[in-house]
Amino acid sequence: MIDNCIFCKIIDGKLPSYKIYENEHAIAFLDINPINPGHVLVIPKKHFKTLNEMDENPGIELFKTVMHIEKVVAESGCVGTNVFQNNGKQAGQEIEHVHFHIVPRYPDDSFRFKFKKTTVSEEMIKYSLDYYRSKLT
Ligand code: 5GP
Ligand code: ZN
Repeated sequence: MIDNCIFCKIIDGKLPSYKIYENEHAIAFLDINPINPGHVLVIPKKHFKTLNEMDENPGIELFKTVMHIEKVVAESGCVGTNVFQNNGKQAGQEIEHVHFHIVPRYPDDSFRFKFKKTTVSEEMIKYSLDYYRSKLT
């Protein structure tokens, strides 16, 4: 529990939420400003700021919960879902308590990931390969 964390306060019952599911490790509730109706947030009960700061077991349990809920969202009458998770301000993280977004998609809805695709040089590919392969042993 972190004092100034909105999501910790929701877990603790100090702030209200439209909770849809809870287990030992995680809770899920409706996003207060949804991208589409039925937009769900899934968060670990233990506070971690970003995914890479999470311990493995709460991470596994969190993703199991995300999968459990995504299936229900996917069967709710939408035509697809987006599941995403932001880490750091530059990546659009507003609340510094790890959370997954599960967004039901509807034909002609307004949700877009806006970006320009790029190409990379052979040198940059080599740099990325060397870096990742050396770290991922
Ligand atoms: P982020 O940008 O950090 O990935 O997403 C944070 C999400 O939390 C946003 O979609 C925002 O609408 C939602 N949110 C922020 N404050 C609250 C709150 O007090 N209650 C609920 N249910 N959602 C919140
Ligand atoms: Zn928190």
